[in-house]
Amino acid sequence: MKLSVIGGVPMGMYTAYWAAKRGLKVILIEALSNLGGQLTNLFPNKCILDIPGISNILSKQFSFDLYKQLKSQDVEIVLNTKVKNIIKQEQNDMEIQTDNQNYFCNYVIITTGCGNFTPKITSQLTQIENSCNNNLYIS
Ligand SMILES: Cc1cc2nc3c(=O)[nH]c(=O)nc-3n(C[C@H](O)[C@H](O)[C@H](O)COP(=O)(O)OP(=O)(O)OC[C@H]3O[C@@H](n4cnc5c(N)ncnc54)[C@H](O)[C@@H]3O)c2cc1C
Repeated sequence: MKLSVIGGVPMGMYTAYWAAKRGLKVILIEALSNLGGQLTNLFPNKCILDIPGISNILSKQFSFDLYKQLKSQDVEIVLNTKVKNIIKQEQNDMEIQTDNQNYFCNYVIITTGCGNFTPKITSQLTQIENSCNNNLYIS
């Protein structure tokens, strides 16, 4: 089974890590040139105080730790690639259309947060979710 995780953020990195650990073939697609989303790009030097089990950690360190954990698994990471559309194919296959190439998989999990830090993409992807039955999850 092949899973595409869209959005290389904390949620996306951890999702990709777990899915690969459980035996799925995973591809992680991120629009920006780096992983970590808001943590890496908006507030890398902020202390985060509300992560269960971690009393105090810098955002960029937490993001890097998630990346190290992710790299312990065989996950394909695709950067600089924005997902434009997701189409359900026959036999439960999904086609991920991006501004680069297209990818095919069985399941999709969207972890784009507020999109590229605006709510715009979320509403678009919510509409896509409604047309994809149980093959697509938005977090
Ligand atoms: C100043 C500030 C301080 C904060 N402090 C805290 C805190 O202390 N504790 C806390 O719990 N939360 C805090 N937050 C909130 C926290 O940053 C967010 O809840 C968190 O980043 C959301 O993560 P996310 O994984 O949902 O997505 P985001 O971090 O929003 O990232 C979304 C990612 O998806 C990618 N993406 C979007 N659309 C596409 C697409 N179509 N194709 C491919 N990739 C796409 C984007 O490039 C981005 O990398 C803070 C937020 C801010 C702004």
